[in-house]
Amino acid sequence: MTAKPTGLQPRTLAAQALGWEEAETHAVVTPIHVATTFIRDPDNQYRNGFVYGRPDNQTVRQCEAVLAALEEGPEALLLGSGMSAATAVVMALPAGAHIVAPTVMYWALRNWLMNDAVTYGYTTTFVDTTDLAAVKAAVEPGKTKLVWLETPSNPLWTVSDIAAISDIAHAAGAICAVDSTVATPVFTRPLALGADIVMHAATKYLNGHSDVVAGALVTREVNEFWAKVRRVRSMHGQILGPFEAFLLMRGMRTLHVRVEAQAKAALALAERLKAHAMVADVLYPGLASHPQHALAARQMHGGFGGMMSIRVKAGERAAVSTAARVELWKRATSLGGVESLIEHRASIEGAGSPCPTDLLRLSVGLEAVDDLYADIDRALRAANA
Ligand SMILES: *Cc1c(COP(=O)(O)O)cnc(C)c1O
Repeated sequence: MTAKPTGLQPRTLAAQALGWEEAETHAVVTPIHVATTFIRDPDNQYRNGFVYGRPDNQTVRQCEAVLAALEEGPEALLLGSGMSAATAVVMALPAGAHIVAPTVMYWALRNWLMNDAVTYGYTTTFVDTTDLAAVKAAVEPGKTKLVWLETPSNPLWTVSDIAAISDIAHAAGAICAVDSTVATPVFTRPLALGADIVMHAATKYLNGHSDVVAGALVTREVNEFWAKVRRVRSMHGQILGPFEAFLLMRGMRTLHVRVEAQAKAALALAERLKAHAMVADVLYPGLASHPQHALAARQMHGGFGGMMSIRVKAGERAAVSTAARVELWKRATSLGGVESLIEHRASIEGAGSPCPTDLLRLSVGLEAVDDLYADIDRALRAANA
């Protein structure tokens, strides 16, 4: 990199992927580094810092630097999926550590904490993290090592207070890690609010095109715990592949324009669906009726994200039938892509899910709001006919 202007805004840094150019040709897009091994210096040293492809990769490093800049942290790590990012944080905890996690959270991670993490000696207490007193009561000083948050949280889009809960965690000698997949670094910067680690399912908004599975972690401090997380990634072989890192870096160049448009569309749709005769409720932090709207307005800047859920008045059958009748919305899992998705969550979350059976989760893409509304309005009417 040549000398760069300083104090640039995040969207500027993202658009140019930090302004790297390829040294030989001056290409504005850097090549994908695929090498798995690197030549030693004649005295057997590795002075350029690269030894082998499992611990590190230059394309991955460049993408990590972009994300670290967006989250305002000193370092980031990319892993093979959001789940591998989240589980790497847990596996870096000391043996026997206690974890506090939300009752409403990404179902696969809740499932792993309940059923798998225990076999490695990690125990988890699930609490309503929108209730600060409940979080305080669940944290065991000296024993709790991690307070995990997800905000807004899947699939009810509840909002938790990152600053207040980071303080609670720190007072008990724990770290606070935040799954910020849905907020994205555009709307919330958890590290600036006091969180120690921010996690992303980069599969979702960061990449944004439904064609990469990836996970990311960014730290507030380069410390002993972060070194352990890096070691877990290396020893468990969880680094993201270079092609995926390249695609992710390309996706992140347009992050701001995508998610700002998606949040604007989501708010417009939420307001229109709230008034729909066949909709009992719309769960979206941008609505004044949302129970944590004031907190969301304080903690999220410039938008409330592109995710919402609706509850269909006539119940489960009408909800499933609505999803069956849409033509424009794609009936599919996942979120954060440019195409809008609809999903009946309860049927895939299974037993123990806090998700009501009349709920449909909506991931708002970049289509025209009028087209999206017309399609779901027609499906709701047909399902209720
Ligand atoms: C998708 C998702 C994950 C898991 O990410 P994968 O890349 O599918 O492993 C974790 N948290 C949230 C909020 C998600 O939406």
